[in-house]
Amino acid sequence: MGSTERIRNVAKRVAKWHRAGHQMVVVPSAMSGETNRLLALAKELEPARPGQAYSRELDQLAATGEQASSALLAIALQAEGLEAVSFSGWQVPIRTNSAYTKARIESIDHQRIQAELATGKVVIITGFQGVDAAGNVTTLGRGGSDTSAVAVAAAIKAEECLIYTDVDGVYTTDPRVVPEARRLEKVSFEEMLEMASMGSKVLQIRSVEFAGKYRVPIRVLSSFTDWDIDLTEEARSGTLITFEDDESMEQAVVSGIAFNRDEAKITVLGVPDTPGIAYQILGAVADGNVEVDVIIQNISKDGKTDFSFTVHRNDLAKTLDLLKTHVAPKLGAAEVVGDARICKVSIVGIGMRSHVGVASRMFRCLSEEGINIQMISTSEIKTSVVIDEKYMELAVRSLHREFDLDQPADTLAVTRG
Ligand code: ASP
Ligand code: MG
Repeated sequence: MGSTERIRNVAKRVAKWHRAGHQMVVVPSAMSGETNRLLALAKELEPARPGQAYSRELDQLAATGEQASSALLAIALQAEGLEAVSFSGWQVPIRTNSAYTKARIESIDHQRIQAELATGKVVIITGFQGVDAAGNVTTLGRGGSDTSAVAVAAAIKAEECLIYTDVDGVYTTDPRVVPEARRLEKVSFEEMLEMASMGSKVLQIRSVEFAGKYRVPIRVLSSFTDWDIDLTEEARSGTLITFEDDESMEQAVVSGIAFNRDEAKITVLGVPDTPGIAYQILGAVADGNVEVDVIIQNISKDGKTDFSFTVHRNDLAKTLDLLKTHVAPKLGAAEVVGDARICKVSIVGIGMRSHVGVASRMFRCLSEEGINIQMISTSEIKTSVVIDEKYMELAVRSLHREFDLDQPADTLAVTRG
């Protein structure tokens, strides 16, 4: 919602659904750019050592973006002749823990929402925010409105949670990297969970976790379509994230290719290959509050081995420092090295459960492009590789083609026409 014009468009769309007989709860995000604008202001004034007290004010500040858009939407709906009422997180209340800037929802009291719905009103609830046990305003992390919406949908046992966003659905991969990427009509919840955690930025990962826990069907669709498109058509557009694995699911082995550049690789060289090594290294990393993703231990030579793992790029310097000063001397490791120029590319698909040889097909495809694989990790429905960052686009494009995800030629012709 970038302008009052866009808010009016949203109001007209909501009114259309309401008039068709649906009870509606709407969870707006801030107006576009607003959260960034607010956080940039805080950054200008930031204290030298920002602590908890600063984080508290960040949430107090950032939450205003959603409060404004929610009230504006209620006004726009009233202008459409509907009854509408907006609530902030604390008014519902949406209870969270106290982890400012990345709080987690603990419970939602749905009584007030239900009572207002019963009177025929459209209920608007601010996205992104909640309130902790002490009454402090909290926010749920960037993109957190997705999670608010799904959580509210779960609390009121909604039929479906429609997420209107700046893309018109979930694609086989990012169309900015592969123009031939296709929109998926349906994707299973499990695949979406993998894609969201592997780097697809369509939905905040927590919203997908929530949807899984409470079995809320989500539909991702475009906020840029005209409000007056046919309702049945709109109800079928975008991508449905579903729990059924019915026949109409696309029968592809691989449904999507995800990638991210957010990680860095750390290698501890020449550590003794004895029991407890992984624990000593990764235990120290965990104690430093750093999350580890892919892990690999090489075969040992003369009783020594190399141990590699990936962390978020933002944690690279801190982790290197921690290992060099505390862990390496204790283990007598030869060296600790970091590499931020890596990326992770993953193929995801529930079809991988019933097909063998999918991973090897991935490895062959990459080898034919001359791309060296540094690390591998797998789950039941996913295979990820860590490669040199400079090959990321090549890898994604080649894999997209290899697993027949490119748009069929006829569709392309129609799109171009
Ligand atoms: N306004 C918040 C953000 O920009 C939440 C959201 O948009 O989902 O991260
Ligand atoms: Mg968003």
